[in-house]
Amino acid sequence: MIEDKNQQRTPLSDLGEFALIDHLTKHFEVTQKTTIKSIGDDAAVLDFKKNQVVISTDLLIENVHFDLSYMPLKHLGYKAIVVNLSDVYAMNAIATQVTVSIAVSNRFPLEALEDLYAGIETAAKVYDIDVVGGDTTSSTTGLLISVTAIGEVEPKDVVYRNGAKPNDLLVVTGDLGAAYMGLQVLEREKEVYKVNPNSQPDLESYTYIIERQLKPEARKDVVKLLSELKVKPSAMIDISDGLSSEIMHLCKQSKVGCDLYESKIPLDQEVISTCEEFNIDSTTVALNGGEDYELLFTISQEDYPNLKGNPNFTVIGYIKEASEGMHLVTRAETKIPIKAQGWKNFNG
Ligand code: ADP
Ligand code: MG
Repeated sequence: MIEDKNQQRTPLSDLGEFALIDHLTKHFEVTQKTTIKSIGDDAAVLDFKKNQVVISTDLLIENVHFDLSYMPLKHLGYKAIVVNLSDVYAMNAIATQVTVSIAVSNRFPLEALEDLYAGIETAAKVYDIDVVGGDTTSSTTGLLISVTAIGEVEPKDVVYRNGAKPNDLLVVTGDLGAAYMGLQVLEREKEVYKVNPNSQPDLESYTYIIERQLKPEARKDVVKLLSELKVKPSAMIDISDGLSSEIMHLCKQSKVGCDLYESKIPLDQEVISTCEEFNIDSTTVALNGGEDYELLFTISQEDYPNLKGNPNFTVIGYIKEASEGMHLVTRAETKIPIKAQGWKNFNG
């Protein structure tokens, strides 16, 4: 984080917990009709009438899930919300509320938390959700953020990971691998900066991949689009850990196998060129990179005409019987078993 010397740094101790909460949350407006009581009482009150309620939580820890040396706090606030909403959309539900809990050390001045909350507020506006509560506490070291996202779905529309059937098509939204390559570029620039703090990074040719890393979007639009196209996926999952591990989750829970075609995996040109520059295989990046926040789903073949030609969707494979296993069909038409690597938080 490049710190502005003129920036004000108000110690959190100047405010106290309650004033801090008030200060950070005063701009939040209630827009959802399902929000009966928002911030300010012992608990929020929501009313979903006949709809089912979807709840998902994520915990983000400094230097495990984010690095403040290249992640501006405003982006972090935005991303913390978006990654949670992505889980709600993966249930084919619409997100309506979030709660945000933070633990901060006194290393962070008030202005830093204002930036974090500016990002949270922007995400709340963009995705049309209410921030209805949270908790605020101190931490002895870094920053910790936990977001709980709440959504609603008509019981007939909910989509689980476990409904894929043999012969279904495997479909993915958007393109893959960009967030991971964005991270590679940012890590490289961080090393350069350590050696020469005066160097001016030229990141123009990496705009898309860096944006995918620092400011990802969740596919709320896809949930709406599927409903307009009258397509209900048989199974769905969001791609947070990389395509291969998500395919494995979906297939295992559905008790099916699959053939995934390497040549069909959607990649942005910037991902392809950056992979060449870093000498990394772009398929490996798409399979194991993670943080794409796209949706992976299966549909019955009858639904294919409704999705055909839509630029949001790419058919990347077929669901098979479980006994046939899960395979990547390479460009050379050899079949190799899909292995999950996923995100390596546990291995350092
Ligand atoms: P309690 O003592 O019951 O935990 P708090 O004083 O922590 O209550 O919180 C008061 C209100 O402010 C509650 O509605 C709570 O959900 C909300 N709140 C606390 N911290 C945050 C935060 N970081 N972001 C959003 N809302 C918060
Ligand atoms: Mg509290």
